[in-house]
Amino acid sequence: MKPSPFNYYCPASVDEAVQLLSDLEDAKILAGGQSLIPLMNFRLAAPEHLIDISGLAELSEIKVDPDEVEIGASVTHSQVLQSEQIGSELPLLWEAEKLVAHEVIRNRGTLCGSLAHADPAGEMTAVLSVLRGKVQTASVSGGRTIQAMDLFEGPLQSSLRDDELIVSATFPTLGPNAVSSFREVARRHGDYAVAGAVSVVEYDDNSLVCSAQAAFLSVGPVPTLISLDDLLVGHRIEDVGYTEIYNFLSSQLDPHGDLQTSADYRRHLAAEMGWASLEACT
Ligand SMILES: Cc1cc2nc3c(=O)[nH]c(=O)nc-3n(C[C@H](O)[C@H](O)[C@H](O)COP(=O)(O)OP(=O)(O)OC[C@H]3O[C@@H](n4cnc5c(N)ncnc54)[C@H](O)[C@@H]3O)c2cc1C
Repeated sequence: MKPSPFNYYCPASVDEAVQLLSDLEDAKILAGGQSLIPLMNFRLAAPEHLIDISGLAELSEIKVDPDEVEIGASVTHSQVLQSEQIGSELPLLWEAEKLVAHEVIRNRGTLCGSLAHADPAGEMTAVLSVLRGKVQTASVSGGRTIQAMDLFEGPLQSSLRDDELIVSATFPTLGPNAVSSFREVARRHGDYAVAGAVSVVEYDDNSLVCSAQAAFLSVGPVPTLISLDDLLVGHRIEDVGYTEIYNFLSSQLDPHGDLQTSADYRRHLAAEMGWASLEACT
């Protein structure tokens, strides 16, 4: 399949990119092209203009501070995995990135492109949600910060305006008493997950839970965030146990059925992944 004809632009700066976005009707940002180009090849998308930001040096930075990791919009999934600093300050990002597609796709696809694409099956959308991260944008009328909970509006729908570009994504790092884990089920390694969960658990000085949050992927139109505080705060996860946690998560999840699996089986898988990711945090 071939895409319908389009005009290609290669801006030299973010300013030029947002000017093009503002001036051109029916323009799309092209980052790694790993989601957009397949959609265009299948004629599910047919933008008239593509604005390629992949070569913009000002979007290529990874900044790792003790409190947060900020990743520029042209940083690929593979570059995240090559950053030893990310591996030590926010290992959850590494754990999740290893589950994104295959190496060839990770070599071109960008982390910020995943967020802009707003696929509820995307690992990065779930990680940004559970960590309560944010993205920074640019446009001709100025930049803004969008919190994760306000970014994802539906399958492949974000709250980005048409004239707006994500310049970076920021992920808070975890405190010394917090543990995280990512678990998912996919039919083949590298496929989108049928269901998955990422958990972040914080402990007090007595090793009792003081906060427990989980985000689920592939179970709804946007990443599904579930707080387990009422169930787990003041307890040990292993004392509350599998049955209670599994039943609680099942009652909170309302997934859809599709060609891959039924809604009921997806609910079961998601609750299992939720339990598995929480158990891995003990
Ligand atoms: C076979 C296959 C398997 C895959 N499996 C997975 C998987 O398991 N998990 C997963 O998470 N992903 C998966 N992906 C998608 C991959 O992670 C993509 O890299 C990612 O979703 C999009 O990043 P990109 O840089 O390629 O974006 P592009 O394809 O270039 O763009 C995607 C969309 O986001 C917009 N966009 C991109 N960057 C910006 C920006 N900075 N500002 C504003 N808008 C922007 C584009 O206009 C477009 O609408 C898979 C892809 C393929 C082809």
